[in-house]
Amino acid sequence: MPEEPTGGPGKCVLLRKFALTSGLLREPTLLCVGLSFADVVQFMPTAREHFEDHSPRTLTGIARHYLRDLVYGANDGIITTFAVVAGVAGARLPGGIVIILGLANLIADGFSMGASSYLASRSEDAARSAEGRDPFEPFPVRHALATFFAFVVAGAVPLVAYVANLPNPFVIATLCAAATLFTVGAARTLVTSRPWWRSGAEMLLIGTAAGALAWGIGRAAERLVA
Ligand SMILES: [Zn+2]
Repeated sequence: MPEEPTGGPGKCVLLRKFALTSGLLREPTLLCVGLSFADVVQFMPTAREHFEDHSPRTLTGIARHYLRDLVYGANDGIITTFAVVAGVAGARLPGGIVIILGLANLIADGFSMGASSYLASRSEDAARSAEGRDPFEPFPVRHALATFFAFVVAGAVPLVAYVANLPNPFVIATLCAAATLFTVGAARTLVTSRPWWRSGAEMLLIGTAAGALAWGIGRAAERLVA
């Protein structure tokens, strides 16, 4: 999925403009991933921190520097892969199909997310240098890799029950996905400073709605095809 799945183009243009004119935000395109304007304002100290050190040496430094990539990569990974699993389960297709489509989604969508992160950093810096300002992201590939890594790890969760050939794999996948959705949602607090339970519940709700939609479409499509 590209970098603007939930924000919509209108919000993104506005945010980009704000980010460019304020000069305070790093990677503003990442802000389009499910963030409200209130989030953006609270985001600014984190963004400044990010600016200070692009080559962190300590483990906490590295974790902090790539936190946003990890959180938003995981965010997208769990939602999209669970939706694929739910769609296939809704269509009552065999578990092998879940694994094939799930893995294809994991790698292709994760790659797309990483590439989008890379291109976003590059075009942001191109825009800055066109305005005669210093670029702010010297290592866009590292951020792209962090996004890809988080996407694949979180996105793999709903597939585990199928790969391990467990009984009632969809029930187990749903429970694991729900736990991951809430955890990843709550982790967003680390970059937005909103209440963790609210972020967690929000993600759980969005993921469940996406899964239910996919399941319903899978079931309807199965009837159409049969
Ligand atoms: Zn950086």
